[in-house]
Amino acid sequence: MAVPEDVLEAIRGTVGPKGWIGDAGGMEPYLIEERGIYRGACDMVVLPQSTAEVAAVVGHCARADVAIVPQGGNTGLVGGGVPEGGIVLSTARLDRIRGVDPFNHTLTAEAGCVLANVQAAADEAGAYFPLSLAAEGSCRIGGNLSTNAGGIAVLRYGTARDLVLGLEVVLPDGQVWDGLRRLRKDNTGYDLKQLFIGAEGTLGIITAAVLKLFPAPRTRVTVLAAVPGMDTVMDLFVHVREGFGDALVAFEVISRLGLDIGLEHIPGVIDPFQSRHGYYALLEVTSPRTGEGLRESLETHLADALEKGIAADAVIASSERQAQELWRIRDAVPEAQKLEGGSIKHDVSVPVSRVVEFIDRATGVVEKDLPGVRVLAFGHLGDGNIHFNLLQPKAMDRDDFLSRWDHMNRLVHDVAVELDGSFSAEHGIGRLKRGDMKRYKSAVELNLMRTLKSALDPKNIMNPGKIL
Ligand SMILES: Cc1cc2nc3c(=O)[nH]c(=O)nc-3n(C[C@H](O)[C@H](O)[C@H](O)COP(=O)(O)OP(=O)(O)OC[C@H]3O[C@@H](n4cnc5c(N)ncnc54)[C@H](O)[C@@H]3O)c2cc1C
Repeated sequence: MAVPEDVLEAIRGTVGPKGWIGDAGGMEPYLIEERGIYRGACDMVVLPQSTAEVAAVVGHCARADVAIVPQGGNTGLVGGGVPEGGIVLSTARLDRIRGVDPFNHTLTAEAGCVLANVQAAADEAGAYFPLSLAAEGSCRIGGNLSTNAGGIAVLRYGTARDLVLGLEVVLPDGQVWDGLRRLRKDNTGYDLKQLFIGAEGTLGIITAAVLKLFPAPRTRVTVLAAVPGMDTVMDLFVHVREGFGDALVAFEVISRLGLDIGLEHIPGVIDPFQSRHGYYALLEVTSPRTGEGLRESLETHLADALEKGIAADAVIASSERQAQELWRIRDAVPEAQKLEGGSIKHDVSVPVSRVVEFIDRATGVVEKDLPGVRVLAFGHLGDGNIHFNLLQPKAMDRDDFLSRWDHMNRLVHDVAVELDGSFSAEHGIGRLKRGDMKRYKSAVELNLMRTLKSALDPKNIMNPGKIL
C-alpha cells in the first residue's frame, strides 16, 4: 500500500529538504542488502537529525499506520533492514557523540554514530570501547545494539547487550522513552533497555545509548598458532584461558580451507608457517598495564602447548604491523569465500564444550548429503560461535548449489539445536531466519514474544514482518 501523500508531506515538513530522499536512484542503497538475497521497496528514505525529529516522523506514520524500517549502516546479514513498503528511517544523520564521562567510564552516542567513530572517541578520552567487528567502518551503534552484535571480543567483554547502561528510544506511537542512565546498579523494575537490544527494530527506534567504557589495553600480544585438529584447537583454548583468564580477549579459529582461499583471492594474506596445518587459532591477550612480561609469559605458555602437542607451531607478532598481518588472515575469510563461488552460511553457537562435537557431526551430515561440499568452519570459537559455511563442490553449478540453501540450513541447524545450541548466534533473525523461529522456538517462547510485540506495537508498524 502506498504511503498517503499527506503523510509524506508531513514528514518532508518535519525533516526539511536534506532529511529525505524520494527518487529511485537515491533510495537504491537503502533497498539492497549486504548479501544480495533481498531487494526491498519503499516510498521514502527519511534521515532525521534529532530525537525530536524521529519522534515526529514516527508520530506521522503511526497516525496513518505506515510501516517504518529503521536502518543504521545496512550491514546486517539477515535482511532485517530491508523494507517491504512504507518508509526507511535511516539514522545516518543522528551521529553525534553526546558526551564522554571518563570518571563514570561511559560514553553517550547517538544511534547513527559509526562504530569505528565510537571506538575513536573512547580512545581520544584515554579509554576503550571493545565492540569490534569487520564491518565497524560502516555499521552504526544503533544497528549494533538492535542486532546485539557479537564480534571478536565477546570472550572478554560480552556482546553489545553487555556494553550498555542506558538507552533512549522512540516508541511505535512516537513517544520518547528517556532511559539514558549511567548507573551500574539500578534495580527499579523491568530492565526495559534489554527489550530493545536485539529486537532488530521491531519494538522501537533506538536514538541514543549510554555505553560502558573500559581501561585501554596498553599491552597487546597477538599470536597465530597452528593446530593439528579441531579437538586440539579446544585444548589450546582451555590451556590459554587457564593461563591468562580475562586477559584473553580473542580466540578466533580458521580452518586450512579458510587460509587457502584467502591466499588465493585476497592480496596481502600470508601463510607464516613452512608446513600446512589443519587449523589455526588467532588469539590475543591484552593488559591495561605495561611492562608486565605478558609476552614472555605467553611465550612460555605456548612452548608448553607445543611440548604437550596441542599446538604444532606458533608465531607471536613482533610489531603492530605483523599483528595486522595475522588479523588479515582471519578478516579475509568472508571476502575470499565470496570470490570462491557459492556458499551457504550458518551462524550457529553451541556450548563451548560441544564445539568439536558440533563440527564433527555437522560435517558428517552435510558431506553425506552432498558429496564434494567443502566445509569452511571459522569464527569466534572461544565463545562457542561457529560460522559453519559450506562452499560449493568445485564442479557443481553455483545456482544449483544455492538452491539447496534451506535444506542445508535445516540439516545444520538441527545439529546445533540438538547440541543445546542456537541457529543464530550473532546475526539475528531478520527475514532470513523467520522460518527457523517457528521450527525451533517453543510455543511458550513465541507467544511471549508476540505478546511483547503487540503490547508495544499494536499497529504492527515497526519493522513489520521481521523476527516473528
Ligand atoms: C563484513 C561483515 C562482518 C560482520 N561481522 C559481524 C560480527 O563479527 N558480529 C556480528 O554480530 N555481526 C557482524 N556483521 C553483521 C552486521 O555488521 C551487524 O549485524 C551490525 O550490528 C549491524 O549494524 P548496522 O548499523 O549495519 O545495522 P543495519 O544493517 O542497518 O540494521 C540491522 C537491524 O537493526 C535494525 N536497526 C538499525 N538501526 C536501528 C535503530 N537505531 N533502532 C532500532 N532498530 C535499528 C534494522 O531495522 C535491522 O533490523 C558483519 C557484517 C559484515 C558485512
